[in-house]
Amino acid sequence: MARARAAAAAPHPSLSGLSAGTLTRLGKLGIARRFDLVLHLPLRYDDETSICPIADAQPGQELLVQGTVTDCDIKYRPKRQLVCRISDGSGELTLRFLNFYGSQVKTLAPGNMVRVFGSVRLGHFGAEMVHPRYRVVVADAPVAQVLTPIYPTTAGMGQDSLRRLIARALDSESLAETLPSSLLESLGLPSFEAAVRLLHNPPPDIAQAALQGRVHPAWRRMKFDELLAQQLSMRVHYRRRRAAGAAVLKARGKLVNALLQRLPFQLTRAQNTVLAQIREDIGEAHPMQRLLQGDVGSGKTVVAALAALQCVENGYQAAVMAPTEILAEQHYRKFTEWLAPLNVRVAWIAGGVKKSDKKQWLSEIERGDAQIVVGTHALFEEEVVFKNLGLAVIDEQHRFGVHQRLALRAKGSNKSGQKDRQPHQLMMSATPIPRTLAMSYYADLDVSVIDELPPGRTPVVTKLVAEERRDEVIQRVRDACVDGRQAYWVCPLIEESETLQLQTALDTHAHLQQTFPELRVGLVHGRLKSAEKQQVMTAFKNGEVQLLVATTVIEVGVDVPNASLMVIEHAERMGLSQMHQLRGRVGRGAAESTCVLLYQGKLTPNARERLKVIYEHTDGFEIARHDLNLRGPGELLGARQSGVPMLRFADLALDLDLLDAARDAAEMLLRDEPDAAKAHLARWLGGRNEYLKV
Ligand code: ADP
Ligand code: MG
Repeated sequence: MARARAAAAAPHPSLSGLSAGTLTRLGKLGIARRFDLVLHLPLRYDDETSICPIADAQPGQELLVQGTVTDCDIKYRPKRQLVCRISDGSGELTLRFLNFYGSQVKTLAPGNMVRVFGSVRLGHFGAEMVHPRYRVVVADAPVAQVLTPIYPTTAGMGQDSLRRLIARALDSESLAETLPSSLLESLGLPSFEAAVRLLHNPPPDIAQAALQGRVHPAWRRMKFDELLAQQLSMRVHYRRRRAAGAAVLKARGKLVNALLQRLPFQLTRAQNTVLAQIREDIGEAHPMQRLLQGDVGSGKTVVAALAALQCVENGYQAAVMAPTEILAEQHYRKFTEWLAPLNVRVAWIAGGVKKSDKKQWLSEIERGDAQIVVGTHALFEEEVVFKNLGLAVIDEQHRFGVHQRLALRAKGSNKSGQKDRQPHQLMMSATPIPRTLAMSYYADLDVSVIDELPPGRTPVVTKLVAEERRDEVIQRVRDACVDGRQAYWVCPLIEESETLQLQTALDTHAHLQQTFPELRVGLVHGRLKSAEKQQVMTAFKNGEVQLLVATTVIEVGVDVPNASLMVIEHAERMGLSQMHQLRGRVGRGAAESTCVLLYQGKLTPNARERLKVIYEHTDGFEIARHDLNLRGPGELLGARQSGVPMLRFADLALDLDLLDAARDAAEMLLRDEPDAAKAHLARWLGGRNEYLKV
C-alpha cells in the first residue's frame, strides 16, 4: 500500500514492482505505465450479481447458479472427461470438463456446495455447462455487487491477475477531471472518473446493450477523450513545425504564366482552386505542410509543376520525388517537355542514372544550376546536396515511409546554414481518403482536394470475366490493338514470392507474344534495369508497342492516353485501391475505355465484395469509403501509419460526431485552456508522442 501511494505521487508512475514476465505480458497489451491499466477497458461483462435457480436456466443464457454436487465421475464417452452433476432443489445441471486436473476431482467431490458461472446448453441429459467457471462456497456467501469485467488479455495473463492490477491502479491513480465542465456539459458527457469507474465496474442494473454497443455515455466519454488526445497532439505538432522558418516564395507570375500559356489545356476549376491555396501558402515564411488529394487522372502533376515554378521564380530549387523509377522518369520527361522551353533546368536523380551523368547532375544541384530536381528516393541520399531547396513535392506520398519524408525535409537546411529553415512540403496522393480519416489522421496537415476530372474523359467500363472466358478476352485485346488502340495486361499479384511473380510475367509475355505474332508485345516488371524499363515505356508511349504486359509496378502514375483497354488477371487477389489505381491507367484519352477484371476460382466473401465495389463504382472517394469498411484504417493509410497505434476505442465509421467535437475542442483548448490541453495529453499519451508524425 505504501508503495502504491509513493508511486501515485510521481507524475507517470511506472509499473515498478512487477515481475519481468508480467511486464512483458502487459507490454503486449499496450500497457507501459500504471495509468495505462486505468485505460485498459473491458471487452464485455459477466453477470455474477444474482444466482439463478437451475430450473429457470434457459439454453443460450450465461448465468450464475449454485448447487450441491451429487455426482462426479471420470467418463470415457466419447472421450475422457470429467462429468459432474449438481442440484439446487429446483433442478439438476451437468458440468462437463474435457480438460481437467486431478485436483478438480477433489474440489467437485459430492456434498460440496459450488457456485458456477457459464453458458447453458441442452445436452443428452438435460441442461449442462461445458467448462464453466466455478468455486466452492458456503451457502450464503455474498454475490458480486457489480458486473464482472472481462478484459482483453494475452497468454499467461489471467483475468483474475489483470483485474487485481487494474483495481489497484484505479485506487492509486489520480482520476481528476482534465476538461472544463462547460465543455462536458455541452457534449452531455460524464466526468472522467465516473466514466472509468462505471466501465470497469458497472452496476447490475445498467443497460447492458448500451455498454456492449459502446454507445453508453461512459464509453462516449472515453472515445471523445481518445480522439481529443489525437487531435491535440497532431495540432501541437502542426504548430511546432509551422513555427520553423521557410523561404518566402512570392507569386511573381512570370514563369507560371508562361507555362499556363503553353499548356494545351485550361486548368479545371478545382486545379485553379488548389493551386491558389498552394501559391499563397508558399509565399509565407513558414513551411507549408499540405496534402493534395485528387483522384487518379485529376491532374496533380501540372499543379506540382506550377508550384515548382513559383519556387524557381524566387531563386530557390524545387525537388519532386516519386516512389517508382517509372513514375519519376515520366515526371522528368513531362517537366522537361514543359519547362525546357522556359529555360528552366531540370535534373534527374535515380538509381539507374549512369555514374558519370549522376556526377554531373549532383554538381549542378549543388551549384544551384539545376533549378528543379526530379527523382526517386535516391534524392535523399547524402550525396545529394541542394544549394537552396525551397519546395519538396512528394508524389504518391502514401508509398513513402515517415523516415523518407523526414530525410527530404532535412535537405532544406543543408547549405544555407539556417538550421531551422525547412522546405515547403507538398504531398500528393491519389488514394482518396474518406473525410473521417482525413480529419483524424491528417489533422497535422492542411488538405486540398481536386474534386473533378478534366473534361472530355469517358468513364471506364468495367467488366468482370471468369477465367474460363479468357479466350474471349484475348480476342478482344487483339481487336483493340489491330484497331490502333493499346492495351495493358496486368499480371497477378503474388505476394508470397517475387520470383514467382516475375516468372508469371515472363510466361504471360511469351504466351501473348506467341498468340499475337502480328503485334508487338512489351514487358515491364520491377526487376528490369532502369534503361530497359525506360525503353519499353517509351516504345509503349510512342505506340510502337501495342500490348504491354506488366506487373503491378505500373500501378501508380503511368500516363499513356492512347491505352484504352486493361486486363487485370486474378483481380480477386487485389486490394480495392490497387485496382482503382490500375484502372486509372486507362480512360485518359477520348476513346471509350474498358477494364476487364479476370477472376478465378471460388471467391471468398471479401473478394466478392471487393469486385462488386470496383464494378459498381468509379469514384475514388466512394471506393475508399468501402475500402475503409472492408479493411479498417490501418491498412488503408499504408506507410504513414507505421509504428503509430490506431485508435483503440473510437470507431471512425461510427463516431463522426465525436470526431467533429474533438477537433473543435482541440482548437478551443489550445487557444483558451493550454493547461487543460497539457493535462489531457499527459493523461492519454504520458509523454509518449504516439500520435505524432512528420
Ligand atoms: P494524376 O492526378 O493522376 O497524377 P496526371 O497529372 O498524370 O494525373 O494527369 C492526367 C492527364 O491529364 C495528363 O495527361 C495531364 O496532362 C492531363 N491533364 C491535366 N490537367 C488537365 C486539364 N485541366 N485538362 C485536360 N487535361 C489535363
Ligand atoms: Mg500522378
